[in-house]
Order: sequence, then C-alpha cells, then structure tokens
Amino acid sequence: MTLTRTTCPYCGVGCGVLAGADGTIKGDPDHPANFGRLCSKGSALGETIDLSGRLLAPQIGGEQADWDTALDLVASKFSEAVREHGPDSVAFYVSGQLLTEDYYVANKLMKGFIGSANIDTNSRLCMASSVAGHKRAFGTDTVPNTYSDLEQADLIVLVGSNTAWCHPVLFQRIAAAKAARPSLRVINVDPRMTATRDIADMHLRIRPDGDAALFNGLLAHLVANGHVDADYVAAHVNGFDAAVAEAQASTPTDSGLSTSELDAFYRLWAGTDKVMTLYSQGVNQSVCGSDKVNSILNCHLATGRIGKAGCGPFSLTGQPNAMGGREVGGLANMLANHLDIENADHRDAVQGFWESPTICTQAGLKAVDLFNACADGKIKALWVMSTNPAVSMPDADGVAEAIRNVPFVAVSDIMARTDTGDLADVLLPATGWGEKDGTVTNSERRISRQRAFLPAPGDTRPDWKIISDVAARMGWAEAFNYEGPADVFAEYVALSDAASGFARDLDLSVFADVDYANMIPRQWPDNDSRFFAEGRFYHADGKAKMLPITPPTPIAHTGFHLNTGRIRDQWHTMTRSGKAPKLGSHLAEPYVEVNPADAAALGLGLGDLLRLQSNEGRATFRALVTDRVAKGQLFAPMHWTRQKSSSGTVNSLVTPITDPTSGQPALKAGKVSAERMDAA
Ligand code: SF4
Repeated sequence: MTLTRTTCPYCGVGCGVLAGADGTIKGDPDHPANFGRLCSKGSALGETIDLSGRLLAPQIGGEQADWDTALDLVASKFSEAVREHGPDSVAFYVSGQLLTEDYYVANKLMKGFIGSANIDTNSRLCMASSVAGHKRAFGTDTVPNTYSDLEQADLIVLVGSNTAWCHPVLFQRIAAAKAARPSLRVINVDPRMTATRDIADMHLRIRPDGDAALFNGLLAHLVANGHVDADYVAAHVNGFDAAVAEAQASTPTDSGLSTSELDAFYRLWAGTDKVMTLYSQGVNQSVCGSDKVNSILNCHLATGRIGKAGCGPFSLTGQPNAMGGREVGGLANMLANHLDIENADHRDAVQGFWESPTICTQAGLKAVDLFNACADGKIKALWVMSTNPAVSMPDADGVAEAIRNVPFVAVSDIMARTDTGDLADVLLPATGWGEKDGTVTNSERRISRQRAFLPAPGDTRPDWKIISDVAARMGWAEAFNYEGPADVFAEYVALSDAASGFARDLDLSVFADVDYANMIPRQWPDNDSRFFAEGRFYHADGKAKMLPITPPTPIAHTGFHLNTGRIRDQWHTMTRSGKAPKLGSHLAEPYVEVNPADAAALGLGLGDLLRLQSNEGRATFRALVTDRVAKGQLFAPMHWTRQKSSSGTVNSLVTPITDPTSGQPALKAGKVSAERMDAA
C-alpha cells in the first residue's frame, strides 16, 4: 500500500500523517510537529473515510441538482442581494477546517469583489482574543514561539488549556520532556481538574475568568521583587508604568486562589528564566479574553522572557487551519497577509494586487453580530462553508432561527445532513480530508500540505473550486481562473511579496519557489524561527506595548456557572470523528459534570439526568458526579448535535455575550439553573 504524506484534519497541533486508501494511518516520523506521534483521534482517521452520510451531489430544496443549476442559483441570489441591498447584505461564514487556498479565495471574493468584509469564521470562537492580544502588544498577530521551545523550557504554565485532550501530541511532547528532564516544572491553571493536571507539579484552581487577576498579581510581584528586566523594558517596551499601576491596584485573590498558592506560583515563575505560558480556550473564550491574553503578555514583556529559546507566551490554536485563516484574512476585521482593513495603504495594495473592482473599507460583522444581522433581516444571502453554526455558536437555537430567517442560504459541506445543512436552500457537496489538496498552518506557523489519497467521490468538488465557480458566474471569471490549489497558493505567496514594504510579520518568501507537489512542512518566515529575538516589534516605533488590564470583579450569582468544552475523542460537532466506533467508545453520550456537594443538594443519584435551563434554552444530560468540577460549576462537552442527541445541545444554553475587543463569544461562561429529573 502506497502511503501519502498529509496532515491531520483535527487540531491546531498539525501532526503529519501517512495515509493509505485502505484506511492505513501512521504518524509521519519526519513531521516536526509530531515526529511520528498521533493521538486517538488522529489514529482513528482511517475509520472516518467511508462514504456513509456523504453529500455526493448538489441539492436544491432537498432535491438533487446538477452543478451548473446549483452554481447559477447561488451566484444569482448573491448578485441580486448585492444589487438590491448593497454588498453588506450578504455574508460568508467559513471555517478553520477549510484549507488555506479555500480560505484565500473566499476572502478574495467577499472583500475584493463583492466589496464587503462580511466574512467571518468559526475561528472567531477559538482564538480571536489571542489575535487581538497579539496585535495590541506586538503590533501584529505574531506567534513568537516554536514547538521546540517546549523541550527547552524550565517551566511550562498551561492556562485554560486541557492540553492532554485538546492538543494531545503537544501534551505528549511536554510529558516526554518532563520525563527526560525532571527539573522541568509544569503548572496547570484551570478551574477544572482535567487530565492535563496529571503531569502538573502545581494545579491552580482559579475562579472562572480569574486569569487577569492572577497575572496582574504576577506582574506586581515581579516589580516588587526586582524581577523586571529594566534594560529590556527601556529599549523595547511602551506602557510599562500604566500596566504596572493597574496591576498593583488589582487584587490577586480575585483569581480565587489563596495567598499561599499565589506566592508559590509567583516565586516559581519569577525564579525561572525559561518560562513558557501556553494558553487556549479557557483564556480566549471570555468577555475579557483579550485582556487575559494581554495580562499574560505583560509579564513576558516586563521580564524580557520572549524571543529567546524556551521562553514566551504561546497561544494554542484549536483548529487545523485557524492559523492559515488568520494569514489569508479569513476574519471579518483583517485583510489577507496580516494587512489591516483600516489602513488605506494596505487596502490599496491588496486591491491593486487583486486588480479588483472594489475593496471593503471597514471591518465586517463578527460571528455573533453576523447571525444577529441574519435574525434582524439585514442579511439577504448567506453562505456557510464547512461548519455547523446551528450547533457550535452560542445560543445555538437562536442561531438556527436566524439562519431560517435569511431569504437564501447556501451550505457547502461533506455531509448530507447537518443541523445547519438542513436549513439550506442549496447544498454544495465538498471534497473532504483525503480527497482534496492544499495547505494548513499549525499553531507554530508551520505550513504543511494536505494531500489527496482518495478519489473525489460522486460530484464533490474542492471548496476553492466551488467558490471560484460562483465568482465566475458573478462576473469575475478572469480573477478566479485557478487551475488548482497550487495556483492559489502561488498567488497568496505573491501577495505577501507585493506587501513586503509594510511593517508586518508575515513573510512567505521561503515559499516563493516551492515545489507545491513535494512541499515539505516548514515555518514562516523560516524554519525554527522565533520572533522578537532582536527586541523589534511591529508597532510604528518598533516597540512592544504593555497594556493596563483591569480584571473583572468577581460577582456572586445564583445558579450554576456552565463551562463548555471538548472531550478527548471527539471533534467539534462529530461530523467526522462520530464515524469512528473506537472514538465513540470513549464517552458514548452527552453528560454534565457536577460537584458531589451540588449533586447531594440536587438529590442526584447514580445515572440520574440533570435538566439545565438558561435564558436561551434548555437541555438535559446524564449527570457525572465528580470533584473534577468545583462546587457551583458544571462542565458539559459541546460535541453532540440535535441530530445525535434528543436531549438538546450545550451551546443552546450559552448566552451570546462577547469580548468587546475581539468579538469572541464567552462560550465557557454559561449561567444555568439545574434540576434533577428521574433517571431514564
Ligand atoms: Fe491530529 Fe491534533 Fe491528534 Fe495531532 S494532536 S493527531 S493534529 S488531533
């Protein structure tokens, strides 16, 4: 069996995979992200490539249609809406599952040809707060580190990240580094006790959203105890005094930790030169996510613990190509190649390069606002690509209603039935993992190829092709006349070259003459590249910026705090991972974790069901009584859809409040009441 070198389609670790058409799956020993390792999800990929449930031909109104009819209809509906209501009356909602080439073409069509920035992505739900934090601190959305820093650090702090389940191969790398070098310390900061705690020397069970108080306290401690690198700050950082003043005015115990816990953490952090602070959704998915990110970045900037081996703040992206989407402007407030919509020179450069008739002039609607606009009747045509917002968005039932309210909805997907696809006027069958070619970028800025090792089934087409075919029918055939993904990638690299005069980090010149077919995984700007080694940042004066951060005041509330998240063996709304029996046996049904004290107060017995109610909706789950959650808190995974469970979806319970800076929804901050139901 010939094995094809490709990349895992699940998380942002971006592991290399050797895959065969017979379902053979092996870790790629030569891929620098995983060196042959795979987690349970990656190992089971071979169980997910059958055609059961696949969408194999276009559908219009539930009836099979040919491609020309379906594409003509999509193009005419979008053109009609733009003509009658203006460019901002249409929207794309795309996905970190898309390949970079798909993302680039969708972004080009919406921003440069339709002339709106109403293209947002489910990556908004994943790392928008990190993007905002990076831009505020560094001037660009720059990830400073590489994975190899993990093996060089002396202290790794994992904040709001169940790395063991959500980035398992990185966790394996950390665990292996710790086994090889017992002096490596690991601290886990999380309101929950998760599998990540298993290798931690210290678990800090903070209050939900206690992160900024914790890191403000750390900054004040660093100042008070002489751990600031004054020379570094003077040469490379603005905003130090204001950030420190705010940190000194805040109350570290608002983090929910005791003074002795805080002291132990602060002493270890301050006394260790090589510190990495890794963070994920527990930081990002919050109304103060951007501030939490900047409170972390402040500590690294104040001590110069950035741009050096084994040092730095490191955002772990959730999705396989969340990073690639950021690079090609897949978010509503960005242009391709890390250029800014607000900057007229940037807009001119992109429009000139694309030779496009227009360019958006202001940020578009971010995910929650985009679906609010659907509910309000402002969006007349919506195209959802490769994602399932009717389940994955907060207030999922409200989002489903909002989609129903849009006069014309197209959905591109690999599956015939999804909760969102069921709301579509037109279904467009996309090729899936193993059937399509393109690139993805992982959390450490490493671009890897996804390669086809299976024929495209039925009438499926790659997303970049579907988008280009619609663009051609809207009148822009020449600008979207790509022969294949290699063409798209070459244009993306050329845009990077055209924009090289601007102060920004995204330099793709190492890919200029790359042999696309045989491309090996490599980072931009180059392999093993660590940003900010020279202390040069991307603000106009070349300095970084520390921000004054005001942590939220803890508020007592009645009812329960509902934390939502992921389990080890499922991915998002289970479209692919739900096919693998091996993965389904890990945790077979939706559940909610309840602290034993709360379970006693609720009268819960073994196997009882718990009904949760919020302002947004209601759902019922099997109660799992465990001290992994603190008293007053609940945790429920988000994977089960309405189609897979009759008990309701977790995100139907979550209020769609967002971080005002990043627009990222606070998916971990549900407020629910709970009552016992009789056991089923
Ligand atoms: Fe795939 Fe992530 Fe597992 Fe690697 S760690 S095999 S990228 S799911």
